[in-house]
Amino acid sequence: MPRALITGITGQDGLYLSELLLAKGYEVWGLIRGQNNPKLDLVRSTVPDVRLVTGDLTDLSSLMRALSASRPDEVYNLGAISYVAYSWENAMVTSEVTGKGVLNMLEAVRLHTLDDPGRVRFYQASSSEMFGKVQEVPQRESTLLWPRSPYGVAKVFGHYMTINYRESYGMHASSGILFNHESPRRGPEFVTRKVSQAVARIKLGLQDEIVMGNLDAKRDWGFAGDYVEAMWLMLQQPTADDYVVASGETHSIRDLLDAAFAHVGIEDWSGLVRQDPQFMRPAEVELLIGDPSKARQVLGWKPSIDFATLVGMMVENDLREQSDLVGR
Ligand code: GDP
Repeated sequence: MPRALITGITGQDGLYLSELLLAKGYEVWGLIRGQNNPKLDLVRSTVPDVRLVTGDLTDLSSLMRALSASRPDEVYNLGAISYVAYSWENAMVTSEVTGKGVLNMLEAVRLHTLDDPGRVRFYQASSSEMFGKVQEVPQRESTLLWPRSPYGVAKVFGHYMTINYRESYGMHASSGILFNHESPRRGPEFVTRKVSQAVARIKLGLQDEIVMGNLDAKRDWGFAGDYVEAMWLMLQQPTADDYVVASGETHSIRDLLDAAFAHVGIEDWSGLVRQDPQFMRPAEVELLIGDPSKARQVLGWKPSIDFATLVGMMVENDLREQSDLVGR
């Protein structure tokens, strides 16, 4: 039975990846941070078969202990402070966790496998936010990185450190440059879930309007359940490498609002959406669109859920969730 250790187990991707690996017969371990982690119950109820081990990405010795306890064949480093807007207010802690945390995990794996550097395969969750002020359209593995937020800068550090450990020590370390990936499990601070929740509440008469930031930004959105499959496929390859994982389509925040409101039968949402500078960012990533051809050709990966289906799935989930909350 193969064993996997996942950091960021409490997040959207940690849960989907756990379900995928458990279904494939893996013994799955999750790294969990802090005493009384508020998301512990969520992990226990969603994926009860996952074994938990305490550790923190900023604490190298805790990562060494987690590796000794779980003895993994594969490590998926998904743990990060992942909300872009928050990263300006918390640039230091974002750099510590999202940036230097990757180095700690790589170093822990290196020290754990001195006898055989390729023994444990490593996945780094890199991000399309690294492309920032895009230097090429669409963005591919070779596109020059130009991050536009402390989060993006921290992810660039982690990305190059992963490549560096692969080249320096012969580690099987791969980096997945994942474009935005969403689901009903997405946190409400991200724009897709904010919109799906608000549209459901407006439909149910629980809310009058949505207050938004920049409506012209464009993103390449896919379904998180599809994207964790690409992570796993990367670690099954004979050699480690970097891959863009994306849908290859881009949509604006306006398109997102169109799709979400259309799902509940509202065509004209102009009176229901207000813009407020508090949701604007000091520097914006205006356009993201990925070229996933390498992932398709080498990994045989392709997404199964398109943009409209994804938005519909999220709004449906929030209609159910919000009705249940009111019914209680
Ligand atoms: P990101 O791509 O990782 O930053 O993911 P987000 O879902 O947080 O943001 C996606 C895009 O939506 C960015 O360009 C934001 O500026 C834009 N946006 C517009 N209004 C909002 C809002 O109210 N909340 C969030 N999170 N993003 C918004």
